[in-house]
Amino acid sequence: MLDASPVPSLDELHALNPLQQPTYADEGALADVIAKLRTLPPLVFAGECDDLRTKMASVAAGEAFLLQGGDCAETFEGVTADNIQNKLRTLLSMAVVLTYAAQVPIVKVGRMAGQYAKPRSSGTETRDGVSLPAYRGDAVNGFAFSPESREPDPQRLLGVYNASSATLNLTRAFVTGGFAHLRRVHSWNANFVLSSGAGVQYQNLADEIDRALAFMVACGIDDDAFRTVDFYSSHEALVMEYEHALTRIDSRTRQPYGTSGHFLWIGERTRQLDGAHVELMRHIRNPLGVKLGPTTTADTALELADRLDPDHEPGRITFITRMGAGKVREVLPEVVAKVTASGRQVAWVCDPMHGNTFEARNGYKTRAFSDVVEELNGFFDVHEELGTWPGGVHVELTGDDVTECVGGSDDLVEADLVNRYETLCDPRLNRNQSLELAFLVAERLTT
Ligand code: PEP
Ligand code: MN
Repeated sequence: MLDASPVPSLDELHALNPLQQPTYADEGALADVIAKLRTLPPLVFAGECDDLRTKMASVAAGEAFLLQGGDCAETFEGVTADNIQNKLRTLLSMAVVLTYAAQVPIVKVGRMAGQYAKPRSSGTETRDGVSLPAYRGDAVNGFAFSPESREPDPQRLLGVYNASSATLNLTRAFVTGGFAHLRRVHSWNANFVLSSGAGVQYQNLADEIDRALAFMVACGIDDDAFRTVDFYSSHEALVMEYEHALTRIDSRTRQPYGTSGHFLWIGERTRQLDGAHVELMRHIRNPLGVKLGPTTTADTALELADRLDPDHEPGRITFITRMGAGKVREVLPEVVAKVTASGRQVAWVCDPMHGNTFEARNGYKTRAFSDVVEELNGFFDVHEELGTWPGGVHVELTGDDVTECVGGSDDLVEADLVNRYETLCDPRLNRNQSLELAFLVAERLTT
């Protein structure tokens, strides 16, 4: 059983001085929003979170692989059918590539339906000598660079709830209503330029899947598993007011769950052992992620695991490592070795994005596809040497043809960034780069 002490109150959490929180000017308005949020139905259900925890236990045991991806920061404006469908089909295409190659179940989790709050390295942003509060995601303030827009507005937390609810609703319809049927693997990428290497490779694989399916149907096997997929939501649990208001006691088990998303993670900047985020999260039953950056020691990882998962519950803890291409081979081995030697079985997942961000000469924040691949290779090599299971990838991606990361088979260069740079926060892989990455990961999983 998890810690039996009751979920801390919001005041108790605030007494721990949570980092990366907005400062709201109108406390009355904030109180009204929190009260409203507490009355709204849960966005996800406890049983779904339990199912995902069981799946994550398979990942930790080396019997499944996690694919987790989506925007760095979702936006309210981005809640459109096209946008959601594009992300979904990109993730489903990647999952098919991985399933076919690796022949293990792929656990599919979107950075979707809740990823609206961002930790920032600086609390302010300065442009032309003017300093304003930094953009902290649509959950908190507006992206436009004006004092009004950058003022934290508590009403936005209701916006997060509504946007997440609409996204989940459409996603649930897509994944169970026929769109995810394996017979449609071709159509997921039908409007996609076949001139790209990954596109052609994908069509070949889709042909093979079609033949395999036709064979199975001819043999009389027509399983439900071909028609629907299990797809889960995830985000960084950051804003205390929102996450606390959506923490609910499950009527079936009387246990607390974070009902803002299935899988919640604690970011690199808010994972202090005695901090408010760890304190809230250790009380909920969801499967949890913790980001581990390049300064992480093995002892820190172990202490976090002990605090968040004192009972060694299968599937409870996922360590999402984001060391950077240049550090992964140096830092990761000791962390993995020591956690493993302690007898813990956690899921190890590679985020090859957040340790590899740099500023291009023209001022755009970008990432090189080659660095992303290099970190992934380092991650796979380290696990291979230690005999541990490389359990998954966590990536920032979009289903559109954006130009935010350089490299990949389309050979995007820094001068291309200006063309379609649409992210409000970190640079994402575009559809082509995402598929290409899936093929590279698939190769590592088969060799
Ligand atoms: C993120 O996932 O967008 C993020 C901010 O990551 P990290 O906490 O690893 O920096
Ligand atoms: Mn990010």
